[in-house]
Amino acid sequence: MAQKKEPSFRQSVDLMFNRAVALMDLPPGLEQKIKVCNATYTVRFGVRLRGQIQTFTGYRSVHSEHMEPVKGGIRYSMGVNQDEVEALAALMTYKCALVETPFGGAKGGLCIDPRQYDEHELEQITRRFAYELAKRDLIHPSQNVPAPDMGTGEREMAWIADQYARMNTTEINARACVTGKPLHGGGIAGRVEATGRGVQYALHEFFRHPEDIAQAGLAGTLDGKRVVVQGLGNVGYHAASFLAAEDGAKVIGIIERDGALVDENGLDVEAVHQWISNHGGVSGYADATYVEDGAKILEIDCDILIPAALEGVINLSNAAKISAKLIIEAANGPVTAGADDILRERGVVIIPDLFANGGGVTVSYFEWVKNLSHIRFGRMQRRQEEARHQLVFNELESLSDQTKSEWRLSPDFKQKYLRGADELELVRSGLDDTMRAAYQSMREVWHGREDVGDLRVAAYLVAIGRVADSYRAKGL
Ligand code: NAD
Repeated sequence: MAQKKEPSFRQSVDLMFNRAVALMDLPPGLEQKIKVCNATYTVRFGVRLRGQIQTFTGYRSVHSEHMEPVKGGIRYSMGVNQDEVEALAALMTYKCALVETPFGGAKGGLCIDPRQYDEHELEQITRRFAYELAKRDLIHPSQNVPAPDMGTGEREMAWIADQYARMNTTEINARACVTGKPLHGGGIAGRVEATGRGVQYALHEFFRHPEDIAQAGLAGTLDGKRVVVQGLGNVGYHAASFLAAEDGAKVIGIIERDGALVDENGLDVEAVHQWISNHGGVSGYADATYVEDGAKILEIDCDILIPAALEGVINLSNAAKISAKLIIEAANGPVTAGADDILRERGVVIIPDLFANGGGVTVSYFEWVKNLSHIRFGRMQRRQEEARHQLVFNELESLSDQTKSEWRLSPDFKQKYLRGADELELVRSGLDDTMRAAYQSMREVWHGREDVGDLRVAAYLVAIGRVADSYRAKGL
């Protein structure tokens, strides 16, 4: 029998798109217009480092401008190439539509191993890359707004924001040119945790629907569920940490670049995270079993598998051996189109990337709005809210005195009820609402249409439908 060929990442995204549009009735040509990547800019630039000029290659892809600005992270990795950046940009278009953020899709990448450079060198490289993009309006508050992705974080976003501000000294909205900035550099509370927090909220919503839990062959709540996480970076760490500390899930496996840690009784996520920060990997960690071939741990028996590192890790070579009942795609594209077919046939439920990691862009949207409005969320209403609650409270106490009744509100209730919401609470509330609404929109299609058998097709149907509506409403 001929060996089935693994499609590239971009082909995988296109195949998933094709499966969905085959079930839609789009006008001729519109399907192609939505699918293609509008433009990819490749830049090669030199930076003088350690006494010699080094040349770097970077990309910024704009997949769809049906809404502007376009939005999507900037990745630093040696694996970055045009195919990958275009696939990620396409996913951003569908993700933004699904989680209802008013953006088109984009993505950027720099072919670099950031661990090979010190902080000062990385700043020089980042500023030069930002300069190259900004001078072509590929970084711009109203046209193209990057964010962190693999290998980048708050620090890089702060350099990008500062570089843009230096080039546009009179632009009052300069800070809105990039999201994921540190709180004291124009960022928003809750952005660092947002994608992992979104994964947690996505699972909360999934576990609110007994029919969906049963479809995955699971029962009960998140409490005690056995979880395996791949990649304890920004997304993986926050997801694992919240699920373990707040929902009682048991993280029995953590897979990193240099191997994996396993413990049936549950790993201490904080301790492992600390170990990785200090030692650069998981090997040498004493309180668990170390497995050198980390990818094998994707296959161990568990309830929930959270790939949170990179694309293509569940593919034709291992899809048949995956034992998890539920996979939540915290990374972008961790399951190839071929593996998706195999897993679907085997009845594994997959919560797809364009929904599962949509928490990042959702809170980026809040940050962008905050930057444009130049005021912290909650600043105007927090104390007014508290004063109104105090009024209710005083009234209840005086009623209780007048009627000489014995009842009293508990002090804990009083404290909780009186406090007005701060920015972090508002951000989490907005994120939770977004994840619930997006899940419900997918779910309606999943259970409501006979011809839709999985959440991924449902997600694409909802997202493509919204992009198509936008084109229909305003033309091309
Ligand atoms: P990160 O760089 O913070 O973390 C990635 C982690 O994966 C690191 O700990 C790294 O050591 C590990 N890793 C790399 N290669 C690995 C391998 N072969 N096997 C096991 N582990 C490996 O990146 P991140 O921001 O957490 O992004 C992870 C994924 O989530 C990416 O697919 C990214 O596109 C996606 N994502 C990120 C965000 C965000 O807000 N950061 C938002 C949406 C989606």
